[in-house]
Amino acid sequence: MIEAELEPISFAYHGTPLEVENNGHSIKAGYAGESTMEIDGTSLKLLQFHFHTPSENHIEGKSYPMETHLVHVDKDGNLAVVAVMFTEGKGNSLISSVVDHMPEEVGKTNKSEQSINVMDMLPENKDCYRFNGSLTTPPCTEGVRWLVMKYTVEVTKEQVAAFKSVMHENNRPVQPCYARPVLK
Ligand SMILES: [Zn+2]
Repeated sequence: MIEAELEPISFAYHGTPLEVENNGHSIKAGYAGESTMEIDGTSLKLLQFHFHTPSENHIEGKSYPMETHLVHVDKDGNLAVVAVMFTEGKGNSLISSVVDHMPEEVGKTNKSEQSINVMDMLPENKDCYRFNGSLTTPPCTEGVRWLVMKYTVEVTKEQVAAFKSVMHENNRPVQPCYARPVLK
């Protein structure tokens, strides 16, 4: 990895009504409104976040019990994914809300009046490793810009187990993580 002077990434994520979908390969929460990330002068809109158990990406060779992918798109349709790893520890309130609403049935979406903010799921220090192009572990699709947060967040063993019971082991994507319809 090349050490470089990188512009910090800025995040402007706002609250959104909770909407949790079981799409058959992941548990996905849709993100409405204008929540954005800015990187190198480009603004990207947050579309959705979803989960993998165990992690797809590794940090310095270490795998994690769970990972979330925050999927963003810029005005030209280019995708960028922010990945965050979870370790087992104390609970996370946003994860609790998702767990409480996740449908066991494939193809189902549960909606709630409850507002969530993905900021509540992110580490305080948001420094990222940046990858352009291919990773050693297979990314969801080619041409996606990957940002992997250096710091992890904690979830309980029970929260990981709850995701696993619904998603099974979905760390080896059999289809792209974010199907095209998301972009329409
Ligand atoms: Zn993914």
